[in-house]
Amino acid sequence: MPSEFTGKHVTVAGLGVSGVPAAKVLHGLGAHVTVVNDGDDERARAQAAELEALGVTVRLGDGDTLPEGTELIVTAPGWKPTKPLFTAAGQAGVPVWGDVELAWRLRGLDGRKPAPWLAVTGTNGKTTTVQMLASILKAAGLRTAAVGNIGVSLLDAVTGEQEYDVLAVELSSYQLHWAPSLRAHSAAVLNLAPDHLDWHGSMEAYAADKGRIYEGNQVACVYNVDATDKPSTEDLVRGADVEEGCRAIGFTLGTPGPSQLGVVEGLLVDRAFVEDRQKNAQELAEVSDVDPPAPHNIANALAAAGLARAFGVSAAAVRDGLRAFTPDAHRIAHVADVDGVAYVDDSKATNTHATEASLAAYESIVWIAGGLAKGATFDELVAGAAKRLRGAVLIGADRALIREALARHAPEVPVVDLDRTDTGAMLQAVQEARRLARPGDTVLLAPACASMDMFTNYNQRGDAFAQAVRELGA
Ligand code: ADP
Repeated sequence: MPSEFTGKHVTVAGLGVSGVPAAKVLHGLGAHVTVVNDGDDERARAQAAELEALGVTVRLGDGDTLPEGTELIVTAPGWKPTKPLFTAAGQAGVPVWGDVELAWRLRGLDGRKPAPWLAVTGTNGKTTTVQMLASILKAAGLRTAAVGNIGVSLLDAVTGEQEYDVLAVELSSYQLHWAPSLRAHSAAVLNLAPDHLDWHGSMEAYAADKGRIYEGNQVACVYNVDATDKPSTEDLVRGADVEEGCRAIGFTLGTPGPSQLGVVEGLLVDRAFVEDRQKNAQELAEVSDVDPPAPHNIANALAAAGLARAFGVSAAAVRDGLRAFTPDAHRIAHVADVDGVAYVDDSKATNTHATEASLAAYESIVWIAGGLAKGATFDELVAGAAKRLRGAVLIGADRALIREALARHAPEVPVVDLDRTDTGAMLQAVQEARRLARPGDTVLLAPACASMDMFTNYNQRGDAFAQAVRELGA
């Protein structure tokens, strides 16, 4: 079937997770596809060979020269806007789309009615919230999937055989940057803390890209009432150009006002999608239906509920969906209790914002932290958590930064500094933590740092922690 892509010269920037499928889809639609890629390693060559066999042109080792005749660039979301390729595209008047924009434009191309998108972004909590949302939508009997950085890829979801009634879509700030025409049914920004600023250039630019998720929303813009740093997520809603009648819906861990979802006496309640919201509220679920019932995760559940309710889902389905949801590994996962001490793996807490939420969830903590700081500072984090720290065990390349913050803001807290990065280091860290802990405490791995100095990724770090805990109990 001819489409706007037939015969078009499209350059796909970057092989990899999104580039290879994008090149294949565009080639299948009759576009003349050239893939450009910075790297020229073994993996790239294997991917190139696969595409070349289909008739796609691939240029390895030069991601910065705009191929002659390019009419459209489809870029991997991680490519920085300041790359020379994009400067050249700007000068030549060539539009640049990301993988999300491409998926958005391909919706309905096969003649099927496109599924609306319920979209989620935020600095932390995206994956969890999107999974909760998908679970709720499924409980409501809708055909859906969690898509984006997780599960099904967006391209597969819009071009594959499977039909959907609605999609729960996770979007990163990079993806939003490159998705100018995306118009979600409803969207949520969970929170906003400085992250990826080297890519976006400034906090304002980062916030502006996150805020694009609200552009053109039809039913609801869901924002975080409790996050008041500037710009707040509510500011982003105000700045967005939405469809007539689209509502701003807040979520809060406090008592909800009209047009908000919140918490009252251990219950998640909806005061937004009810008759006469000045006087009425609808019970959705119990706080204990949310796993884990940590404050930030209740916030995620409320955001997911807000989007589901905007789509017309019943209160009972919200409850059933939340009950059916189990979090992915390494996100506040309870590993075991040993001698009255709980051991919790939040290896996914790779930045200070996530770790702050994690530390806020427990009363008395032995904190295992450290790794690659990625330019972060720890003063605010440590000062905020000082009262709840029984002790700290520090690992990894940048542990001195955390040790210094502890010395400044929590000088009474005993600190064990582990000067080793071999594979046995985590076992020793857990043994030291056990020594510091008292019954009733939580030993929490929430490193506030990336893992790559000692581990392949946060999964391996969390697995090493869980293994060490099992050895304690043995
Ligand atoms: P993302 O997809 O945005 O990276 P995840 O759901 O995978 O988010 O969670 C990443 C980390 O952020 C986890 O360590 C988790 O404990 C923490 N986290 C989850 N939700 C929130 C939230 N609402 N606020 C702050 N931190 C959060």
